[in-house]
Amino acid sequence: MKIKKLFVMSITLSLLGSACKQGGSQSNETKVQPKESFEVINERFADLQMLRYEVEGFNELTPKQKELAYYLYEAALCGRDIIYDQKYKHNLAIRKTITAIYNGYKGDRKSEDWKKFDTYAKRVWFSNGIHHHYSNLKFVPECSREYFKTLVMETDAAQLPYPKEGMGNIFEVLEEVIFNPAVDPKIVNQAEGIDNVAQSNNNFYVGVTKKEVDAYYDKLKDPGENQPEWGLNSQLVKNANGKIEERVWKVGGMYTQAIEKIVFWLEKAIAVAETPEQKDALEKLVKYYKTGDVHDWDTYNIAWNQDVNSRLDAVNGFIEVYLDAIGRKGSFESVVSLKDMEASKRIEKISKEAQWFEDNSPILPQHKKDTVTGISAKVITVIVESGDAAPSTPIGINLPNNRWVRQEHGSKSVSLGNIVNSYNIAAAKSPVLKEFAYNDEIIKRQKEHGVLAGELHTDMHEVIGHASGKLEKGVAVPSVSLEQYASTLEEARADLVALYYIMDQKLVDMGVMPSLEVGKAEYDNYIMNGLIIQLTRLQLGEHLEEAHMRNRQLVAKWAYEKGKAENVIEMVKKDGKTYVKVNDYDKLRKLFGQLLQEIQTIVSKGDFEAGKNLVETYGVKVDQALLGEVLDRFKKLDVAPYKGFIQPKLVPVMEGDKITDVKVEYPTDFGAQMLEYDKNYGFLPVKN
Ligand SMILES: [Zn+2]
Repeated sequence: MKIKKLFVMSITLSLLGSACKQGGSQSNETKVQPKESFEVINERFADLQMLRYEVEGFNELTPKQKELAYYLYEAALCGRDIIYDQKYKHNLAIRKTITAIYNGYKGDRKSEDWKKFDTYAKRVWFSNGIHHHYSNLKFVPECSREYFKTLVMETDAAQLPYPKEGMGNIFEVLEEVIFNPAVDPKIVNQAEGIDNVAQSNNNFYVGVTKKEVDAYYDKLKDPGENQPEWGLNSQLVKNANGKIEERVWKVGGMYTQAIEKIVFWLEKAIAVAETPEQKDALEKLVKYYKTGDVHDWDTYNIAWNQDVNSRLDAVNGFIEVYLDAIGRKGSFESVVSLKDMEASKRIEKISKEAQWFEDNSPILPQHKKDTVTGISAKVITVIVESGDAAPSTPIGINLPNNRWVRQEHGSKSVSLGNIVNSYNIAAAKSPVLKEFAYNDEIIKRQKEHGVLAGELHTDMHEVIGHASGKLEKGVAVPSVSLEQYASTLEEARADLVALYYIMDQKLVDMGVMPSLEVGKAEYDNYIMNGLIIQLTRLQLGEHLEEAHMRNRQLVAKWAYEKGKAENVIEMVKKDGKTYVKVNDYDKLRKLFGQLLQEIQTIVSKGDFEAGKNLVETYGVKVDQALLGEVLDRFKKLDVAPYKGFIQPKLVPVMEGDKITDVKVEYPTDFGAQMLEYDKNYGFLPVKN
């Protein structure tokens, strides 16, 4: 599971002036003061803002650790093509066409048309395809079809991913795909009452219905065993004879050209692993990439979980299932990191109290874990991200996803420290808080406590939230029992654990926050975000699709409705603008506790109807009049709603064929980095 960043006002403005003192004694452990020596803010285009992050601590690593980091870095980038193809079957052909134009077009590169093409190209790179990285809806170029065609015709034929002969045909298909908004409009379609498999335009399924998918995987199940994540690493296809078969993503299978390279670099990494546990985990990952067996994926995850003493770590695989409307297929992603020893202390304190949090949780006694095992948590410094984790990145990650592995072997939770730090720097310059906060008190509290509140929320969400609770006996995993509502309810559950405890004196007593004012700052932020600010990511006429957005509105709106009689949360009109304000923080906490219990019960019992009812009632529909107003206000602020990162570059220093050192470089040109990646890591053909 991952936490994505919305606006999160909680990390706003806190470095302006002296307000960022987070209660003296905490400040050195909580890393609340973003450093500003490094150039974080980069170019902006469309609705996107590029940022950069610094890899502090890299130079402290030993030469052997740096060598390991380099191999894991290469293994990460070698999988980059996969996410393009997973998202949509024509993505690689389109991206390669764009790259060819960049490298081979001889005409004018200063015209308005070229600028429009340039923006489109960057949007495709940012989204790993032609569908928006967040809304999953297709976007189209602002230049004309004719212009695009001219670019292709005037590009060196040898550069194009298809022969120029007969290109008419291929390009006609691509042209329709690129320019006609009605063709394959949406890669994740979670609308109710439709076939969510057949009507999603991703590349996970070909010619099958949801019913057929479910039947196929039900047959594979051996009821006597812990269930692996069936179907996680394959495309499911109905072949010419009408037979359904899996095309597994493995060495020798689908995507083998990229996976062989990943394995090549992982095998080099094994040779320089820091600890026996890390070596064991990497070997098991390689085995899984070779067999493609989902049982081997579980075995790997158990080993990865036990690797807690290494300084370096990597997430690498087909992992998150958000791009599949029915939550089965894993998107390729990789995050390579080193542990931030100092910043990890706060999160370790929280992790140590996991049992206390479970015992004191408002969920029903029968849904509590007797012993919360193996929670490990740390703050990491990201070295590189790839696949579904880039350029748009999570700020927190909690893995593995398979519930039985988590229950029996625990999970690892990480907060992406240097990424959050860069967000803080960018947010400090943002006018969003001032526009949407009801009064100065709220703004002041955000300035004083917002950074810490945001960090604590992330820690609690990942370390305690996702690890909490258990299923009743015989209940299937949520992805099966709760289907398309599973992700939203899981994120809501984890958020509610964080919200419930961030107003608990316990956190003050533990020394991780100075006072309950931090909790109030988080409540202000969460409610503003869930009811108003996150709407800035939609377009007029839209409702909520994405799991985290649905969850935030579900939580905020439920609390608003249930607390209405006592005026716990108030919607206020001022000068024609809508604001939201919290009137009673203690009552709001009780409401969060109630909803947590309700959602945990739904998850524990696998109660599909109740889950659906909750999400559809509170988490989906958006008041279009409010949306219109919010979009107007936001437009005037001229802020890009989405942010993503240019990746650092690792450069090995060679002596003969031996790596003696590795240097980190910080590229400043997003387009140039994408072209370099296309050239060095473009392993897959246009059709897979
Ligand atoms: Zn989460």
